[in-house]
Amino acid sequence: MTRRRLTVLFVAALALAWGWLPDYSITLLNYIGLYALVAAGLVMLTGVGGMTSFGQAAFVGIGAYATAWVCTSPAVADTLGGFAVPVLLPWFGLLLGLLLTFAVAWVLGSITLKLSGHYLPLGTIAWGLSLYYLFGNIEALGGYTGIAGVPPLVVAGVSLASPRGLGLVIWAALLLSLWALHNLLDSREGRALRALKTSRVMAESMGVDSGRYRVKVFVLAALMAAVSGWFYAHLQRFVNPTPFNLHIGIEFLFMVVVGGAGHLWGAVLGAALITLLKAQLQDVLPKLLGATGNFEGIVFGLLMLFVLQRFADGLWPALARLAQRFLKPDSPPNPVAAAPLAQRALPPVGEVVLEARVVTKRFGGLIANNAVTMAVKAGEVHALIGPNGAGKSTFFNMISGVDDPTSGDVILMGQAMNGKPARDFALLGLSRTFQHVRLLGHRSVLENVALGTHRRGHSGWLASMLRLDRAQEAALRHEARRQIERCGLAAHADAPAASLALGQQRVIEIARALASQPAVLLLDEPAAGLRHLEKRALATLLKQLRAEGVGILVVEHDMEFVMNLADRITVLEFGSVIATGTPAEVQVNPLVLDAYLGGSDDFEEAAA
Ligand code: ADP
Ligand code: MG
Repeated sequence: MTRRRLTVLFVAALALAWGWLPDYSITLLNYIGLYALVAAGLVMLTGVGGMTSFGQAAFVGIGAYATAWVCTSPAVADTLGGFAVPVLLPWFGLLLGLLLTFAVAWVLGSITLKLSGHYLPLGTIAWGLSLYYLFGNIEALGGYTGIAGVPPLVVAGVSLASPRGLGLVIWAALLLSLWALHNLLDSREGRALRALKTSRVMAESMGVDSGRYRVKVFVLAALMAAVSGWFYAHLQRFVNPTPFNLHIGIEFLFMVVVGGAGHLWGAVLGAALITLLKAQLQDVLPKLLGATGNFEGIVFGLLMLFVLQRFADGLWPALARLAQRFLKPDSPPNPVAAAPLAQRALPPVGEVVLEARVVTKRFGGLIANNAVTMAVKAGEVHALIGPNGAGKSTFFNMISGVDDPTSGDVILMGQAMNGKPARDFALLGLSRTFQHVRLLGHRSVLENVALGTHRRGHSGWLASMLRLDRAQEAALRHEARRQIERCGLAAHADAPAASLALGQQRVIEIARALASQPAVLLLDEPAAGLRHLEKRALATLLKQLRAEGVGILVVEHDMEFVMNLADRITVLEFGSVIATGTPAEVQVNPLVLDAYLGGSDDFEEAAA
C-alpha cells in the first residue's frame, strides 16, 4: 500500500458510505468539509507562507452574505429579472462573493502584510472584528438578525436542498482544492511560497517577489474561505453575523495548528477533530457540570496547550510518521520530456560586471563600510578579506540589493542599482550565498537548489495547480540535479537539507546560486566548515566557473584557500579598503600584515 493508494481508498470509502451514513453523521461531515476548506487555505497562508491570520471567518462571511443578498434581495431580482432565472441566482452570488473577497483581500493584504512580527496577527484581528460589525450594521443585510430564505443550490436540474446532496458537492470541492493546492506546492511557485517562511531576504535574492507572493497567497486563502461561506449559506438557508465572529476565526487557526499547519491533510484532520470534539463537548460538558454555557472553549484552550507541548507541528506529521512504517513510498511520476530552459549569455571575460563606487554604510554611529570602491570582472575570482567585523558581510548586502548603501553607487552589468530590490539584482544575473545558511531544512536538497532556478521558469499558479507545468518543472529539476552533481552532493540530492553537515549546507547554497546561471557569484565564507578534500573540490569548482567566464567575489577566512585561488584581493579593515592587489602584493603589504597581527594565524602561515 502506498500513500497515494491510501488516499484514493479513503475517498472511495467516503463516497460509498455517503448513501448509508445516518443524517447526523452527514451533518457533521458537511461541517468538517466546510471548515476544512477554510483551514486548507489557512495552511497555505500560515503553515506554508508563514503569515498568521485570525480573520478568516470574515471572508467566510463575505462569501455567505454575498450569495444570501443576491438570492433574496428584491432589488437584485428586479435588475436581473430580465435575464436570469432564479436557479442561476446562487451562481451570481458566488461570483459576487469571489469578486468582493478578491477586492477586499487584495486591499487588506496589501496593507496588513507589510506589517511584520506580532503586528500582522493583530492587524488580522482588527479587520476580522471590523467586518463582523459591518455585517451586523448594514440594514440591507438584515442587521444582527440576518437574512432568511436563502434558496437551495440547483445543479443541472437537481436540487441540493438536502444536506446529503449538498455535502457531496462540498466534499468534491474540498478534494479538488486539496489536489490543486498539492500540485501548487509541488511546483516552482510552491517552492517560492515555502521560501517566504524561511527567509524573505533569501527568497528575494533568488528572484522571488516576496511581497507579491504574500498578497497572492493571502487572496487565495480568502477566496477559499469565501467558497466555504457560499456553501454554508446554501446549507443553512439562513445567514447572520454570529458564525463569522472573531472567535470562529481563532477556531479556524486552532484547527490548522492542531492538525498540522504545514500539511494540507492536517487541515482536514484538524477540522474533523475540532468539529467532532465540539459536538461531543456541547452535549457532555453541561451535563457533567450541571450548568449551561460555552464550556468547550476552556477545554479547547487546554487541548491546544497539550497538543502544542507534545506535537509542536500538529498531529498530521505524527500520524504520517506512524503510517510510514506500513506504507511504501509512492512510485516516482512518469518522466516528462523537459522543456528547454532560458540561458543567459555571459559577458566577455575581463569586462567589469559589478562595481561599487564609494559605498558607505552607517548603522547609527557605526560606519560599517567607509567609501569602499572595488570592481569584479567577468572570469576572475576576487577575494574580499579582513578581520572579523571589518564589514565584509555588510558590503555583500550592499552589492546584492539586500540593503541600501547610505551613500555611493552600485553598478551591476552597467546599470545603476540604487534603491532596487535584491530580486532585480538576481534578474540581471547576480546570485549569492549567505554567511548564515538560509535553507529550507525540512525540504530536500533538490528542492532547495531548484529554488535557484526560479527566474528561469515562468509557469503561473493556475498552470501549476492544473499540472500544466510538468515539462518546465522537469527542466528546472533537471537543472537543479545537474548543479547538485557538479557541487559533489549527488548522493544527498533527496535528503532533507538540514540532515547534512553545516559545511555541506554551504555547498547546497552554492548549488542553489549556480542554478540561476549567474554572471556574478557572491560567496560569503563558502569554505567554512569544509574538510580539506571538500575545500579542494570547492576550489576546483570555482576555477571551473572562472574559466567559464563567471565573475566571482568571495569572502573567506581560510588564507591558504584564498591565496591559491584569487586573482585579486581587496582587504577591508574597520570598513575601509586598506589594500588591493594580487595575492603576492597583498601578502607583503605592511598595512595588511599589521591588520592581521595577532588576528589570524592563518594569514601569517599562508604568507610565510
Ligand atoms: P564581517 O562580515 O566583516 O565580519 P560585518 O559586515 O558582519 O563584518 O559587520 C561589520 C560591522 O557592522 C560590525 O561591527 C557589526 O557589528 C556591524 N553591523 C552589521 N550589521 C549591522 C546591523 N544590521 N545593525 C548594526 N550594526 C551592524
Ligand atoms: Mg561576515
